[in-house]
Amino acid sequence: MRKAPALGAFLVKYDPCRKIRGGMILSGNLTLIVGPMYSGKTTELLSFVEIYKLGKKKIKVFKPSMDIRYGVEKVRAHSGIEEDAIPLENPEEILNIIDGDEKAIFIDEVQFLSVKVYDVAKKLVDEGIDVFCAGLDMTYKQNPFDTTSKLLSLANVVIKKRAVCFICGEHNATLSFKISGGESEIDIGGKEKYIAVCRDCYNKIQRGEIDVHSHIG
Ligand SMILES: [Zn+2]
Repeated sequence: MRKAPALGAFLVKYDPCRKIRGGMILSGNLTLIVGPMYSGKTTELLSFVEIYKLGKKKIKVFKPSMDIRYGVEKVRAHSGIEEDAIPLENPEEILNIIDGDEKAIFIDEVQFLSVKVYDVAKKLVDEGIDVFCAGLDMTYKQNPFDTTSKLLSLANVVIKKRAVCFICGEHNATLSFKISGGESEIDIGGKEKYIAVCRDCYNKIQRGEIDVHSHIG
């Protein structure tokens, strides 16, 4: 594993294109994309990647190394679009990996990284680099993910996505519900483990008024 530098040691390279006003580097934006499973968070994240790439702006994409669903060095949306990504064990590795002249940094599945990503994101936006993070806001037990919650407090743009409810079909699912694979809240999975549901359907499942397994093919 790479050794993380002290946060203060990080210095952005001189870049004539950097946003500067009155001799001061303008800060970047932290955009946080949150929501339940299947709400299109990664698709939204990759649409921002596309915008920067179309503008021929230098970027880097990161993901937690524990998420190996689509290969260790790929971020892939459920829609199928994908992007090369650098796997991270520790968010502070980002400061060693970037060259300093990136216009934006993208992080997918950010809830699986430690809360140190908050300090890293703060450092990057203070240096004028835009940061985009996508991740789950809550576990399937409706407990907030610490990392996402901390980033929410720092973000100046928050995009809250909804999914289609697996039970009633309405586009108002804000919760993930686990249908198999035990009780662990930190448990990577896809359609075999999780469904997205609205709050009403979530509560009906909890009260035993809906048999979720009768809805699964
Ligand atoms: Zn519903």
